Amino acid sequence: MIPIAKPWIGQQEIDAVVSVLASGTIAQGPKVAELEKKIAGYCNVRHAVALNSGTAALHTALKVAGIGHGDEVITTPFTFIATVNTILMVGATPVFADISPDTLMINPQEIKKKITKKTKAIVTVDLYGQLCDYDAISEIARAHNLIIIEDACQAIGASWNGKMAGSFGDMAAFSCYATKNITCGEGGILTTNTQKFAHAAALFRQHGRTNLQHYDYNDVGYNYRMTDIQAAILCAQLDKVEHITAKRNEHAAYLTNHLKKSTWIQTPTIKKGNLSAFHQYTIKILPGTTHSREKVAAYLAKKGIASGIYYPLPLHLCTHIKKFGYAPGDFPVAEAMSEQVLSLPIFPQLTPAELQQIITAFEELDNNV
Ligand SMILES: *Cc1c(COP(=O)(O)O)cnc(C)c1O
Repeated sequence: MIPIAKPWIGQQEIDAVVSVLASGTIAQGPKVAELEKKIAGYCNVRHAVALNSGTAALHTALKVAGIGHGDEVITTPFTFIATVNTILMVGATPVFADISPDTLMINPQEIKKKITKKTKAIVTVDLYGQLCDYDAISEIARAHNLIIIEDACQAIGASWNGKMAGSFGDMAAFSCYATKNITCGEGGILTTNTQKFAHAAALFRQHGRTNLQHYDYNDVGYNYRMTDIQAAILCAQLDKVEHITAKRNEHAAYLTNHLKKSTWIQTPTIKKGNLSAFHQYTIKILPGTTHSREKVAAYLAKKGIASGIYYPLPLHLCTHIKKFGYAPGDFPVAEAMSEQVLSLPIFPQLTPAELQQIITAFEELDNNV
């Protein structure tokens, strides 16, 4: 079976772990500091703070931005649950704005309609590894004095007119979970150009501890530290991130080139100026055409090809979020897209034969098997 995702771990990562284990410092230490410098340099931002998940990075960003009870945070309903759960974790209210049907990301025109006196921030999501329309979103944020938190969990390596993912918001969050473009199993990184946010984030991840000499604490904090073992893996992964992004783009171009002739499929839309990290390669199975999405997924599985649906349920319809008063029909674009999307394998190690296997399965579907 060709899986939907596969971590790319080589000898460098293995050697890096062995040397950390032998060093005697296995929790947060010099490797974490090295990683933070490396990521900040790569994303061209002043500060990076390593944490132990993308969820921790989002939670930390919202917390150090001072967002809490009584505040509203605008975000997309078409994302992973962590984007919205972290807004709930700080006690704020998530307010959804519908997505654009082409990129499937938050629609700036819809953001404008949702701004109230209580709005404090916008959490944008760089879905599938593509960057949002930050020209429009930044203008809205400036006009209304809102903080932007970039959920770049899927987008390391992406850029927009040369500007790197992780540098678009006041703060950004990356995830290094096993399926993400670079990984250490579990991990997260917060990036920012603002010193006070970086400083507060570094305290928050260590129980709110003011400094390491004194057991004094500013505030309630968490244990969100990354270990040197994880950081060593990520340093090695970061050395190959450009190669990973290039490979994913190469595979995407190949798939699109072959799939675009099928009238019942829509291949991904990448906006001008964007280099997508292609975390996912997501097609739409157009409704009322040759095949249902379920049939396509089942046929691919029969042919040894895994596929995924990201995401089958828009978040306003999740059980614990619906209670804010949402109902089916509230975000028609997100709802329609959740029934059409299908992600195909795009990981860098895919071989030409495996890519051909995917194309052949679609050609067979084209011929109405
Ligand atoms: C993966 C992901 C997260 C959460 O990251 P974890 O490292 O799994 O905690 C948050 N938002 C989005 C969009 C993601 O894809």
